Amino acid sequence: MPSRLSRAWRSSAWRMGALFLVAVAAGAWLHALLESLLVFATAALAIGLFRLLRFGELLTSRRRVPASNGHGVWDEIQNLVRRRQRAASDDKRRLLRQLHAFRDAAAAMPDAVVALDLDRRIQWFNSAAGQLLGLKYPQDIGGHLTNLVRAPRFADWLRLDTVDALADLASPVDEAVRLNVRLIRYAENRALLVARDVSPLMRLEQVRRDFVANVSHELRTPLTVVHGYLDMIEPDQFPEYEPILHELRIQSRRMTQIVEDLLTLSRLEAQNELLLERISLRSLLEALRREATALSHGQHEIITELLGPHDLSGSAKDLHSAFSNLVTNAVRYTPAGGRITLRWESDSGGARLSVTDTGQGIPSQHIPRLTERFYRVSTSRSRESGGTGLGLSIVKHVLQIHHAHLDIRSEPNIGSTFTCVFDARHLLEPASLVASS
Ligand code: ADP
Repeated sequence: MPSRLSRAWRSSAWRMGALFLVAVAAGAWLHALLESLLVFATAALAIGLFRLLRFGELLTSRRRVPASNGHGVWDEIQNLVRRRQRAASDDKRRLLRQLHAFRDAAAAMPDAVVALDLDRRIQWFNSAAGQLLGLKYPQDIGGHLTNLVRAPRFADWLRLDTVDALADLASPVDEAVRLNVRLIRYAENRALLVARDVSPLMRLEQVRRDFVANVSHELRTPLTVVHGYLDMIEPDQFPEYEPILHELRIQSRRMTQIVEDLLTLSRLEAQNELLLERISLRSLLEALRREATALSHGQHEIITELLGPHDLSGSAKDLHSAFSNLVTNAVRYTPAGGRITLRWESDSGGARLSVTDTGQGIPSQHIPRLTERFYRVSTSRSRESGGTGLGLSIVKHVLQIHHAHLDIRSEPNIGSTFTCVFDARHLLEPASLVASS
C-alpha cells in the first residue's frame, strides 16, 4: 500500500504536470511558448519558496504545527511533523507522570532520601530528610550536605565514598535519634543518600546488653559465695561426698568463668574509647609462648615467628586476652604431639597475628558461625576442656574495637589457622627506630 507521502508526491506531480500542459497550450496559442514556460517555472518556484518559508516559520514558532487539509507534498510533510510532535509530547507527558510517581514514592518513604549530584551537592530530598537530617526546602538545594550535617565522622565517611554504611550517627535535629546512613551510587557517579532511624533497634539492643550485663553481675556474688564455701570444705572431712564435691567445684568454676566472660563481652560492647598503649610484639609472642607451654604441659611443640618489625597500638589487656584465647584453643583442640605456631607478620600496609595448629580442624560449615556466643562444634569436647563457648566471641569484639578482623582457615584432621588482621592505623614503628630518629 503506498504511503501517505508517496500518494502526496503523486498528487503534486499530477498537478504540476497538468499546469505544465496548460502553460504549453497557452504558450502555443499565444505564440509565446518560451515566455509561457518561464512564467510557469517562476510561479512554481515562488509557490515552493512561499510554502518553505511558511513551514520554516511554523517550525521555529513555539506553537504546535496545525493540521493541513491539502493533498500536496507540503501538506503531507506538515501533517507528518504534527503527528511526530504529538507523539513526542505524549511521551513527555508519560515520562513526567512516571517521574512524579517515583518522586511521590520516594517522598512517602519513612527513610530520609537525598539525591546528590557529581559534586555531592543536594539536588532533591524527601520530607523524611527534613525531619531526620534537618534539611530545609528550598534553601538547602544545591548546598553541601557536610555543611548541614556537621559531624566530623559523617564528613570523613562521605569523603571516603564507600559502600559501607555509617552506623549510629546522631541526627543533627535530635541527638537521641540514631541514624544508619548508606550511600547508593547510580548513573555516572550520582548518589542517593539513605538515612534510616534505627533508634528503636538501638534501644532494644541496649536493653539486651543491659540485661546480660545485669544478670551476669547479679550472678557473680552468689557464685563467689558458693565457690568460697566449696573451697573451705577439706577433702578428708566428708570422704563419701568427695566425688560430688569435686564435680560441684568444677561446675561452679565453669559458671564463674562463663559469668566473667559475659561481663568481659558486655564491657567490650559498651566500650567507645580505646586506651592506646604500645604493645611490643616480641614480648607479647614470648608471653603467649610461655602460656601455651604451661597449658600444654610439654605435650606440644610451640614455635614463635617474628616476621615483622612493627609494634601494635591498642589495649594491651584486651589484645592479650584475645590472642591468649586463640592460643588456649589451639592447645585444647590439638592432640598431644601436635605443633602450634604463633606468627607475627607486618609491613607498612598492615599486620597479621596468626595461630596455626595441627589439630582436629573444623568442618567448613561451622566456620562462619564460630564467633557467635556459645557456638561450639562439639559441645562435649568444649566442656571437657573447660571451654565456655565465648572465647572466639571475645576475640571478635576485641578485634572490632581495634578496627581489625578475624580470618579463620581450617581443614578437618589437618589443622586450623586463626589470623587477626590489622590495618595500618594500629601499627607503630619499632620503638628503637622512634627513639633513634
Ligand atoms: P570454647 O570455649 O568452646 O572453645 P570458643 O568460642 O573459643 O569456645 O570456640 C568455639 C568453638 O570453635 C569451639 O567449641 C571449638 O569447637 C571450635 N574451635 C575453636 N578453636 C579451635 C581450634 N584451634 N581447633 C579446632 N576447633 C576450634
